[in-house]
Amino acid sequence: MENRLTSLYTLQLVDSSLDELQEMKGDLPKIVAELSETVKNKLALKKQLDDILKKSIAGRDKTDVDILTLKEKIEKHKTQQFQVKTNKQYDMLAREMDNAQDKITQLQKEMENLENKAEQAKEDSTKLQPEIEELQSELAERKKELAAVNKEHEDEELKLKHQREKLVSRISKSDYQMYERIRKAKEGRAIVKVQRNSCGGCFNRATPQRVLELRKNSAIITCERCGRILVSDEIVESAKKLL
Ligand SMILES: [Zn+2]
Repeated sequence: MENRLTSLYTLQLVDSSLDELQEMKGDLPKIVAELSETVKNKLALKKQLDDILKKSIAGRDKTDVDILTLKEKIEKHKTQQFQVKTNKQYDMLAREMDNAQDKITQLQKEMENLENKAEQAKEDSTKLQPEIEELQSELAERKKELAAVNKEHEDEELKLKHQREKLVSRISKSDYQMYERIRKAKEGRAIVKVQRNSCGGCFNRATPQRVLELRKNSAIITCERCGRILVSDEIVESAKKLL
């Protein structure tokens, strides 16, 4: 039974050290992740705008060609009007020319719309460019900082993670789950030492009965107030030796 408590408390020591390392990195991992996401989204938005620009210009050019074709058609009809023999043929050509003129007016409006769309997309995309560059350089800077902090503690972190793995493999699944549950709920401290018969987490005084039980180092005793697992000095000492 002492092994069970010792393993758990050793795990607590390892996790606390890992938490400390994490704290040293501060907000950097989060900042890097958030910045990466922002850069990714802005790049996607810029690509969208550039696509709109490209499509609008292609559309405008095509409309331009269509208008030219219609104008040529009108010119051709004008010449033909001089050659027709009947009024009916003459009127028919006139109607076709009217239709072509209407179509040209419509296409010119479309062309103007596409022109405006392209201009807006270009303006938005151009505005976005320096913003993206600034974010990218900030991201690179932050990544460098994080890499430096990581490098500084790389060996220690690796050693702790390795120790953790070994310990977890020795702890029963139910004990581990209980430990993790309390740790999550109690800001990382699932197991605390009893000091002067009080819980080392919330300082609640343990009943004499509990203190007696605790000294046997044979069962998992939790604090009545905060629910953390309580351990005696002996467990603390033997855990330290394991590290
Ligand atoms: Zn407590």
